[in-house]
Amino acid sequence: MTEFGKILPNSQRIIVINPNMNCGQIKCALFDFDGTLSLLRSGWQDVMVPMMVEILLELKTGETEEQLTNLVRDFVDRLTGKQTIYQMIRLCEEIRKRGGTPKDPLEYKREYHERLWKVIKDRVEGVKSGKIPKDQMLLPCSRQILEALKERGVTLYLASGTDTEYVLDEAEALDIAKYFDGGIYGAIDEWEKFDKDILIRRILTQHKLSGPELVAFGDGFVEIEETKKVGGIAIGVASDEFNLGNWNEWKLKRLTDAGADLLIPDYREWQTLLAFLFCGSDLV
Ligand SMILES: [Mg+2]
Repeated sequence: MTEFGKILPNSQRIIVINPNMNCGQIKCALFDFDGTLSLLRSGWQDVMVPMMVEILLELKTGETEEQLTNLVRDFVDRLTGKQTIYQMIRLCEEIRKRGGTPKDPLEYKREYHERLWKVIKDRVEGVKSGKIPKDQMLLPCSRQILEALKERGVTLYLASGTDTEYVLDEAEALDIAKYFDGGIYGAIDEWEKFDKDILIRRILTQHKLSGPELVAFGDGFVEIEETKKVGGIAIGVASDEFNLGNWNEWKLKRLTDAGADLLIPDYREWQTLLAFLFCGSDLV
């Protein structure tokens, strides 16, 4: 027993929040990318949050850096899983609220990406050149669970709030693009036309699925919340990306609030997890 739920029998650390989920019917699986499978962009929050705080501090409203950090951290977190532009649009709203005149949200997005790229460039290039082993930049046992899902005939989708060209490039670099026969989706220029909620609904219609035939894995609020809205099974991946094998307490709380059915720190217990998801073995 943990403060979040019961530990799944036969497992060390799979937490069951919702013991009444409908297991045994899975046909499609949707994965978020960053923080759920890929570690290439780990630490993006530590680039986005300070950048936004810096911009808001320039407005000299008398708010302290700490107050602004809490505010920014909260909305960045709440919007995680949606396309990056939504976080920038929210920044613009906060600037306006404080009497400032924001730039176009796309400009903030570009600036953020430039700063982030400096942090992640070596990782991406290292994986491409072979200097860094691919699986070192994936959450533990990601490849095993993806392969096991393919063996069970599950259609796999990858969806990210990061721009499509980067998601495709990074998924190829990590050699996991090949598993996603359902498609790989990221942010597009016409950002109003696509988001995870649209994709989730499209998957259900296309495959004529009922909710419990879809399972989603994610470390962001949005994918979990949207999956629950359509009655799917939502698995929160609450990994401490800098300390693999450990829980990220912040994510644990946010994913629980978002309505996750199950929580895992990574995929090391993929066999037990899949046995439960596909057979719906009894919970104690
Ligand atoms: Mg993520």
